[in-house]
Amino acid sequence: MTTLMNPRWNGQFSRFDLVARSGAKTSDCGHSVVRVRDIEIGGDDFVVIAGPCAVESEDQLLRTAEAVAKAGARLLRGGAYKPRSSPYSFQGLGVEGLKILSKARDETSLGIVTEVMSEEDVGVIAEYADIMQVGTRSMENYALLQALGSCGRPVLLKRGMTATLEELLCSAQVVATAGNPDIILCERGIRTFETATRNTLDISAVPVLKTVSHLPVIVDPSHAAGVSALVPVLSRAAAVVGADGLLVEVHPHPDLALSDGEQSLTFRQFRDMMDDLDPYLALRQQARQLRPQLVAAGGHD
Ligand code: PEP
Ligand code: MN
Repeated sequence: MTTLMNPRWNGQFSRFDLVARSGAKTSDCGHSVVRVRDIEIGGDDFVVIAGPCAVESEDQLLRTAEAVAKAGARLLRGGAYKPRSSPYSFQGLGVEGLKILSKARDETSLGIVTEVMSEEDVGVIAEYADIMQVGTRSMENYALLQALGSCGRPVLLKRGMTATLEELLCSAQVVATAGNPDIILCERGIRTFETATRNTLDISAVPVLKTVSHLPVIVDPSHAAGVSALVPVLSRAAAVVGADGLLVEVHPHPDLALSDGEQSLTFRQFRDMMDDLDPYLALRQQARQLRPQLVAAGGHD
């Protein structure tokens, strides 16, 4: 029998399946579907979350919300609490940013995704957000993961930049066993020796995670690439390998952005990217048939 999966994963499925047993709603094929407003992540739709790295002003966010909604995004992203490598960089607008996000939701009916960095902020962010984003730097913040177990909102868990997939799944498990089965995994690039891109997009993470776990998996091509020119092609790759959606940075004036401008798409670039995705979405359906094959070949389910 050919084993397509790394044999080290053998016998570990039961641990990942604990997430399933903790009460997640699963679709016919055994995958969990996370429902937010009228949006299903992990089902048939390819769900695009788009918006600026950080909420900078009402004008910036509302204009972006309108543009990304028109281009087909279903959720709006934007950080109000920003984890910045330098203490001198823009740290986010805090509660004021959350209020702006909520206004954008009222005006566009997009769902809201925003980052939570500390367990102390979980309550206030959950009042405004539809999905709580855990950033790469927080994937191993276990106090935060625990607190998210009872936040009442789905969690978008980004892979730590030096974390293995097993470690990512263990962090998901912490949230699930703390009471919250609504988890979306996000591959956002990992640190390697390569310097041509900000991070290295581990594209194989998508079929592996879709095989060994039942959780929705999305790709963030913006933080992986670090440059906007690579974002459309990496988004196509994500679709072709069977991802459930994307998290993409978009800004009205990327060169004026207070954070991550180099990797942010303009409205036009985002619209073009969305328009060009169609043929790749057709291929995505084929990739999604892969899971049973991989599982059968590895002798597990
Ligand atoms: C972000 O989404 O803007 C962000 C800070 O992402 P990451 O945690 O992946 O760096
Ligand atoms: Mn960013």
